[in-house]
Amino acid sequence: MTLFRNAVRHAWRMIAALVIAVLLVVGVDRFYGHSSIAFAAAIVLLLIANAPMLRFNCPQCGKNAFFRGILVVLWPNRICTRCGYDLDK
Ligand SMILES: [Zn+2]
Repeated sequence: MTLFRNAVRHAWRMIAALVIAVLLVVGVDRFYGHSSIAFAAAIVLLLIANAPMLRFNCPQCGKNAFFRGILVVLWPNRICTRCGYDLDK
């Protein structure tokens, strides 16, 4: 399993967590009325789900695969944007 594939797997988990979080907020909103607790729970859920993202660092230069410059993106880089290392080999 390469770093890139692990990172892609994490990206899919994040998409699933995002869908669950949205459904949670929308569902609670619909059945119980507007709730900021549901919203807070969704944010916490996403933060916890996203924590492993910090482990996907380039073995050569340490740059995170989810960063494009200073921006964090949902999909990981296959090639390190700083040193050009192939994260899928
Ligand atoms: Zn690198």
